[in-house]
Amino acid sequence: MTDEIAGKPVPRPTEETRDYWEGCRRGELRLQRCSECRRVQFPPRRFCSSCLCARLESFAALGRGVIRSYSVVRHPLSPAFAGDVPYLVALIQLAEGPTMMAGLRGCTPDTVAVGMAVEVEFEARSETHVPYFHPA
Ligand SMILES: [Zn+2]
Repeated sequence: MTDEIAGKPVPRPTEETRDYWEGCRRGELRLQRCSECRRVQFPPRRFCSSCLCARLESFAALGRGVIRSYSVVRHPLSPAFAGDVPYLVALIQLAEGPTMMAGLRGCTPDTVAVGMAVEVEFEARSETHVPYFHPA
């Protein structure tokens, strides 16, 4: 497993994303909710993207969503992904509302579909964990 992921990019948490990546390491997909307008947002930011309020609370999402679009990657971004092609990357609308991009596992270009229900899993990559989704 370690050899398979050697060379793949490792996320570098920033002040805005540290809580998110620490959540991933614990097996939680964390989102932000605005204390003022209650809007849920992803990716994490310092301010609410709707009302610019800086009071944001972080919470663990259900980790479930629906595929809104997907792409089949047949040419790897880097040699580290050469063993993975073809692989799937999807836009997933989370149950809480925001849409995120993530890799898909447990389905193929022949079995994936827009509207498919998916749930999150995490791949250990160096010191952090990276979210992927698989059919629910
Ligand atoms: Zn707001």
